[in-house]
Amino acid sequence: MRSRNPLDPGELDAADPLAGYRDRFLPADGIVAYLDGNSLGRPPVATAEVLDRFVRDEWGGRLIRRWTDGDEPWMSWPETVGDRLGAAVLGAAPGQTVLADSTTVLLYKLARAAVDARTGRNVIVVDSDNFPTDRYVVEGIAAERGAELRWIETDPATGITAEQVAGAVGRDTALVLASHVAYRSGWLADAPAITRVAHDAGALVLWDLSHSAGSVELELDVWGVDLAVGCGYKYLNGGPGAPAFAYVRRDHQETLRQPILGWMGRRDPFRMEQGHVPAAGIRAFVSGTPPVLAMVPLRCGLEMLEEAGIGAVRAKSTALTEYALALVDAWLVPLGVEVASPRDPERRGGHVTIRRGDFRDVLDGLWERGVVPDFREPDGIRLGFAPLSTSFAEVHRGLAVLRDVLSG
Ligand SMILES: *Cc1c(COP(=O)(O)O)cnc(C)c1O
Repeated sequence: MRSRNPLDPGELDAADPLAGYRDRFLPADGIVAYLDGNSLGRPPVATAEVLDRFVRDEWGGRLIRRWTDGDEPWMSWPETVGDRLGAAVLGAAPGQTVLADSTTVLLYKLARAAVDARTGRNVIVVDSDNFPTDRYVVEGIAAERGAELRWIETDPATGITAEQVAGAVGRDTALVLASHVAYRSGWLADAPAITRVAHDAGALVLWDLSHSAGSVELELDVWGVDLAVGCGYKYLNGGPGAPAFAYVRRDHQETLRQPILGWMGRRDPFRMEQGHVPAAGIRAFVSGTPPVLAMVPLRCGLEMLEEAGIGAVRAKSTALTEYALALVDAWLVPLGVEVASPRDPERRGGHVTIRRGDFRDVLDGLWERGVVPDFREPDGIRLGFAPLSTSFAEVHRGLAVLRDVLSG
């Protein structure tokens, strides 16, 4: 019997139950390895057809009537697509998730609502390595509401812990804002434990799920999460600028009030009446006209996730990052590369960051050779492995090119 080479991708791909999904994405000319599916997911083949049909039949054929006619009228998509996302990806029962706006805008709406609801508390706890938009949004809210930011300093190669949050929250704390999977290191925060710690102090928690949704398993209802937002164009394959999603736990929906009181979050919007009266339930968190056209691709991405199942997606994601780390250890660590991501797969999301002092200068050469990872300041190359569209052979090819570039 031949001994198996653990770095050979062939057996891993042959044994991959999700291998068939790869051909359901549009090919890209000249791409040797796309290692940035966590920044912009690839388009499914079906998306091109479904979009074309949508433009001709639904938009072109039904025109304004489709807002309110037919199965699932457009007007209802924020909630109907939200419910599907809740069921397939978030661990959320119906009536608690909407699609709308961008992640940034939804972060603002929910964080403002949380701070306003916790009267007598004026501290927002946030970590120093959270994604820039998260940090800026709460800076703006703090200025607007006279609130104070309390920064947790996190280790950039790992991330926020329940112990750190326990040390930062108190009777003055209105809100804890954190990313579930850190955008740089890939650290997978202990969401149930951090949520508990925040609740023990009487604070609300807002999770940014941008790098989690469609990649790791989520149980928002079980964990008792108050609020969450996330991105539609990463692992959900919604396309550039796809709408974002917001989760508001059912028992908060009557008390939390978001600050952008548009007509689409009003009860009976087409009566055009004086004064804003919030719609019932999660609809009150919508502000303007639903981004229907932009939800068409997102529905295609969601359909694939529904079909594959998030458990299988997470299992493959873990196998991909383990495999990438084995290649990094074998090929790149001897060339002076450091791993800046958790080694423990239980504490790691779907991407891995590696560092070397000259990585900024290496990136253009990689892109020219068809290997497309991301760069993260100051010296990190971030390798993202979208489980449905990435094969083990692709990881092997991409890291082999990086090895060749570095050994020059
Ligand atoms: C990608 C990402 C966002 C994106 O916000 P936009 O409003 O879509 O620009 C927000 N938060 C995190 C953690 C992200 O990774």
